[in-house]
Amino acid sequence: MAGAVPIPFIDLGAQQRRIRDRIEQAIARVLAHGQYIQGPEVAELEGRLAAFCGARHAVACASGTDALLLPLMALGIGPGQAVFVPSFTFVATAEAVALLGATPFFVDVGDDDFLFDPEGLAPAIDEARRLGLEPRAVIPVDLFGHPADYCAIEAVAAPQGLCVIADAAQGFGGARHGRRVGTLAGFTATSFFPAKPLGCYGDGGAIFTDDPERAAVLTSLRVHGQGANRYDTVRVGINGRLDTLQAAILIEKLAIFEDEIAARNRVAVRYSEALRDVAQMPRVVPGAVSTWAQYTVRLKHRDAVAAALKTRQVPTAIHYPKPLHLQSAYLGFPRSSGGLPVAERMAGEVLSLPMHPYLEPLVQDRIISAVREAIREQGA
Ligand SMILES: *Cc1c(COP(=O)(O)O)cnc(C)c1O
Repeated sequence: MAGAVPIPFIDLGAQQRRIRDRIEQAIARVLAHGQYIQGPEVAELEGRLAAFCGARHAVACASGTDALLLPLMALGIGPGQAVFVPSFTFVATAEAVALLGATPFFVDVGDDDFLFDPEGLAPAIDEARRLGLEPRAVIPVDLFGHPADYCAIEAVAAPQGLCVIADAAQGFGGARHGRRVGTLAGFTATSFFPAKPLGCYGDGGAIFTDDPERAAVLTSLRVHGQGANRYDTVRVGINGRLDTLQAAILIEKLAIFEDEIAARNRVAVRYSEALRDVAQMPRVVPGAVSTWAQYTVRLKHRDAVAAALKTRQVPTAIHYPKPLHLQSAYLGFPRSSGGLPVAERMAGEVLSLPMHPYLEPLVQDRIISAVREAIREQGA
């Protein structure tokens, strides 16, 4: 492979070349009007995001982490209360809960779909009560872009009075149960971190809800709990606004997002067909749409295969090497009493391959042959 063009893990440059002129014009418009905070592009983006997924309200905010924090604040969640989260996810899912003094309660994920296990929820609720905690909410994660089983989770959560907050940082743009992500939970949080399926050129996020009162509370919370005007404060909030510049960039990126989701799915189908016999990939239920934020397989000899791919100049990543319940900052929080064997096993087996909408078939074929070779060398 000496002399071969390096393969990027995510190629943000290809997307930028496609819409560079439109992005530059959008930035120039913001520089001309000068409303860097809460400029007109923010409300325009919110309208377009809500229309894209069919939610009544979209509230833009400063990051995916704030998009999780703000709904928890809107629900008044705090000390003595439990919020159920999967252990196999990015740390922000549990962090937002812990920041408010509430207790993240770790639940295992499914062996075939890598997602929050709906069957683990009812026993976890009972255990939390036994520990003297008041169960308040559950945060399923659309890991790697695959929407969680919201119907099954809602069926357990609703009768117990728990609110479902979707962590769709990786899943916005996907669909399940015949509806788009953004409409599948009481609140849906997403992130516009550059590497996410819909990313900006910095930090950003958004929250979706169908409830106008909840949307109004979120809008107030993201600006220091503002009331009737800037110097009227009716609740304790944060500075959680999305920059106008990022909103202007996102409007241009959202315009090609549908097309990019289709391209991501073509890439994923090609990987799955070529690797099905040598690696385990997540099952996407029929009818659901994944945004394939990552294309992640499970391998017996993961570290050796990753090393062999590195020598072949194929970049890979591990999402995630350590489940949250084993992270030193989170060791003190409760988890399901049977332990979290799937999350622990997955951390040692997962490997993410290059994935983005502009991955050319010829380059993908190079990756596929390298992966097959590397696996063969391990005799697995
Ligand atoms: C990226 C991510 C977040 C946090 O988003 P930021 O915009 O980086 O704050 C939260 N949850 C999951 C699952 C993520 O992948």
